[in-house]
Amino acid sequence: MANRMKEGLKLYKKGNVEIELFDDDLMIFNVKGSRKENYQVSMNENVWICDCDDYQYRSEREPGSFLCKHLWAVFFEVMEMKNED
Ligand SMILES: [Zn+2]
Repeated sequence: MANRMKEGLKLYKKGNVEIELFDDDLMIFNVKGSRKENYQVSMNENVWICDCDDYQYRSEREPGSFLCKHLWAVFFEVMEMKNED
């Protein structure tokens, strides 16, 4: 978990998070991974989902409790946006 948070912070600092849609109950982000691959992270009515293999695999075992590095990267981005308000 801690390592994924650090990896997510790195992606965020590199500016790899792109916001596609930002509404109250629906948000969509594109996150570029460390090998330049693209992942889509979305939030629909407070349920966060990433389409990477890491997330798909783990969330099956612990539904709703797993955060991959792309989700972390998005959270850092959102926190920054809130600070700017
Ligand atoms: Zn992911």
